[in-house]
Amino acid sequence: MRIAMISEHASPLSALGGVDAGGQNTHVAELSAALAAQGHEVRVYTRRDDATAAVVVPMKGFEVVHVPAGPPVPLAKDDLLPFMGEFAEWMAADWRTSWLPGVAHAHFWMSGLAAVTAARRCDVPVLQTYHALGTVKRRHQGDADTSPQHRVAYERELGRVVDRIVVQCQDEVSELLRMGLPRAGMALVPSGVNTELFRPDGPAEPRGASRRILTVGRLVERKGYEDLIRALPMVPGAELVVVGGPPEGPIEDHPYARKLLALARHCNVADRVRLAGAVPPAQMPRWYRSADVLAAAPWYEPFGLTPLEAMACGVPVVATAVGGLTDTVVDGVTGDLVTPRDPRALGAALRRLLNDDVRRVGYAAAAADRAAHSYSWRRVAARLAALYAQVTGRTLTEAETPREAVV
Ligand code: UDP
Repeated sequence: MRIAMISEHASPLSALGGVDAGGQNTHVAELSAALAAQGHEVRVYTRRDDATAAVVVPMKGFEVVHVPAGPPVPLAKDDLLPFMGEFAEWMAADWRTSWLPGVAHAHFWMSGLAAVTAARRCDVPVLQTYHALGTVKRRHQGDADTSPQHRVAYERELGRVVDRIVVQCQDEVSELLRMGLPRAGMALVPSGVNTELFRPDGPAEPRGASRRILTVGRLVERKGYEDLIRALPMVPGAELVVVGGPPEGPIEDHPYARKLLALARHCNVADRVRLAGAVPPAQMPRWYRSADVLAAAPWYEPFGLTPLEAMACGVPVVATAVGGLTDTVVDGVTGDLVTPRDPRALGAALRRLLNDDVRRVGYAAAAADRAAHSYSWRRVAARLAALYAQVTGRTLTEAETPREAVV
């Protein structure tokens, strides 16, 4: 099948770690590669943000197409809405003249607007993955939320007009129901993890004798790093390693990194907090394997790839019970779930787990098993391909139907 992925701000080619580059980039790249490996023709349409970039760039069996929409320079995703009309026009012309897809799968709401506009002209069915919802962001960030006005209304309208909403976790189902969208229009297919890269065996980043708590993600407030630093005095002797940050420049130049280091000094744990900066995706398994526990303490999290990546590497997780983490982390089996924004609860869970070798080994084995079984990209891609076929009324060929295709 010919599949158009639309990912306006998150290019699969772009470096991870910038303010707007994170899980969506990984998700679109891995999903497209897995679908391509199952015999589908995949193109990812993303906004051109570099005047020197080629229009079409091949990547792992699929193509990345740079759509001219707005100035060819990096822009914050919250500034992209005015260019979505241009994006849709260009894409519709591409579909009409050279590459008509069987289905379009949009990632993030602004991609959805472009996809629906282009698809109407070419009669292509559209699936929508939100990745994040405006209602949730507004609830947690209040006035600090810089999303374009009317985001929530656009998201609701999109949910009504697309052929299917691909939801990633139970919590998202509830949010969408609260927005008034019908359950019948949703299909729950979670994100995945690259189980060939993220696996328990393999090299690990060197470390000292202290217990290592690892946390990974973009250096943004809502990821809960401050709560983890505040929890650290309750976990004597353990070090907290934070992986993530801007891909360029020393980490100390980042204003939020400076704030975290100041907080560590204030809590008398500066000697136990290390900001490792951004790590290339291929190096991430080494860091997970070096950890005794992965801590993920976001205030909210639409899906959350990093706990799943750690689980796939056989690392137990202590996470806040929010969003996708309540689906991926099985409380008391693959990790522990705690109340969000509660450093005491985090500290208690981390101390208990680090002091209990038997529990940690049990969690680790169950975590690796769960990640490999339920969240491999091969399985996720197969389930989505079956859904695309359902929406388009097309039958997949035998080569396109791996055994995992059970929706
Ligand atoms: N990541 C990375 N290098 C870093 C920090 C993060 O490759 O230095 C990757 C990480 O492995 C994961 C993604 O970035 O695949 C973050 O995804 P997640 O869903 O946890 O958070 P998001 O950024 O989407 O909020």
